[in-house]
Amino acid sequence: MPLFEFECTKCRSNVENILKKLEKKTDKTTVKDLVDKYNNIHSLEVLDLDNEKLLAKSGKMKEDAIVKDYYIDDGNKLVLINMDRYRFQELIYEKEDEKKVVCECGERKYIEKVISTFAFTSDLSTDMPKPDLSNLPPSVRAKTKLTGYIEEKDRPKKNR
Ligand SMILES: [Zn+2]
Repeated sequence: MPLFEFECTKCRSNVENILKKLEKKTDKTTVKDLVDKYNNIHSLEVLDLDNEKLLAKSGKMKEDAIVKDYYIDDGNKLVLINMDRYRFQELIYEKEDEKKVVCECGERKYIEKVISTFAFTSDLSTDMPKPDLSNLPPSVRAKTKLTGYIEEKDRPKKNR
């Protein structure tokens, strides 16, 4: 199937810039400025996890956009970003089609083709994909160990 995954590097770098800024400052003005600055960002929320307090919130939630969560400040703060999907799939039949791929933000130039990790996993029963832990707060990640052990109920029939 000529289904490929693409990523808008412009939208992605906007998110990276936001997180970098928020590592330094999470006051209301900073959060508001960030929502105003980037057109793929609809709303932004920063929560203090230790004190269970909302530090700042700006923008208006867009329903058909996605919400992604990020942890900053060593996992002490949670950032919720409501934004346009910048990773998407497109059917590509001819090389020319790739040039027509456009992100929801309107970007055409900075679109990158990403290699799906699933494409290489031909047999899921012997090579289970492992969950991605990179998004977890470091404190949780340190306690989370991934082992190759598969619970009996989840094992493929032939191994029982
Ligand atoms: Zn984009």
